[in-house]
Amino acid sequence: MTDTADAQDAFAPRRAEMVAEIAATARATGAETGRPAFAARVMAAMGKVPRHLLVPDPQVAYAYENRPLPIGHGQTISQPYIVALMTDLIDPEASDVVLEVGTGSGYQAAVLAELVARVFTIEIVEPVGRRAAEALARLGYRNVATRIGDGYGGWPEAAPFDAILVTAAAPAVPAPLVDQLKPGGRLVIPVGGQWEVQELLVIEKQPDGATSTRRTIPVRFVPLTRGK
Ligand code: SAH
Repeated sequence: MTDTADAQDAFAPRRAEMVAEIAATARATGAETGRPAFAARVMAAMGKVPRHLLVPDPQVAYAYENRPLPIGHGQTISQPYIVALMTDLIDPEASDVVLEVGTGSGYQAAVLAELVARVFTIEIVEPVGRRAAEALARLGYRNVATRIGDGYGGWPEAAPFDAILVTAAAPAVPAPLVDQLKPGGRLVIPVGGQWEVQELLVIEKQPDGATSTRRTIPVRFVPLTRGK
C-alpha cells in the first residue's frame, strides 16, 4: 500500500464524476426525499473517501459507478447516492456519535468518520466485519470502532447516539435502536421484507422521547438477519 496516495489521486477525477451524479440524482429525487441538495460537507466526504480501496479487487474498476456492488458473502456495498442520502438525512455534526448497523465494506462507516466525532459499526458476518475493520484501520480511520455481532440490539455500552444508520432492511424498526437514540436523535432505516419494496424511513426522537416517522423513497437492501 505504499502507493495509496498516488492511487487515490488517480481515482480523484472519477470520484468527482460520482459526486456530480449523486448531485443530479439528489435533484431528481428531492421531492420525495425532502433533500434536493445534500449538505456541502456530506458531498465533500463523498468526494474524499477512496471507495476503490474498500471494494473487493474485481470491483475496483467499477468503484465509482453510481450503483451497488457485490462485496462477497452475498452482501453488497450500497449505491453511492444512497450512502450520501442516508448520511445527509442524519444531519451529521462534527461532535456527533453515530452507530451504523451493517458494516459491510466499511464504506459508509468511512464516510461517517469524515463527518462526525465517533463511529460505532457492527457487522453480523464475521469475515465481512473483519475485512472492513482491517481496511478502515489501513486507511487511518481512528475514530471508528468495529464489532462483530447482531446489530439488532444496537451497541448499549456506547449509547446513546446522536444518530443511527441501519444499512440492512428490517421488517419493523428494532425497538432497542430507538431506545439508544438521544432525544433529538435521528434513525435512518430501510423497512420492509426481503422481497417487498422497502421504504427508507427517518425516525426522529423528540426531546420528550416521543418519535415521529417520515417516509422517503423506496429502496432495496439485503435483509437484517438475526443472530442466535
Ligand atoms: N453499509 C455497508 C453496506 C451494508 S450491506 C457498506 O457501506 O458497504 C448490509 C450488511 O448488513 C451486510 O454486510 C450484512 O451482513 C449486515 N447485516 C445484516 N444483518 C445484520 C445484523 N443483524 N447486525 C449487523 N449486521 C448485519
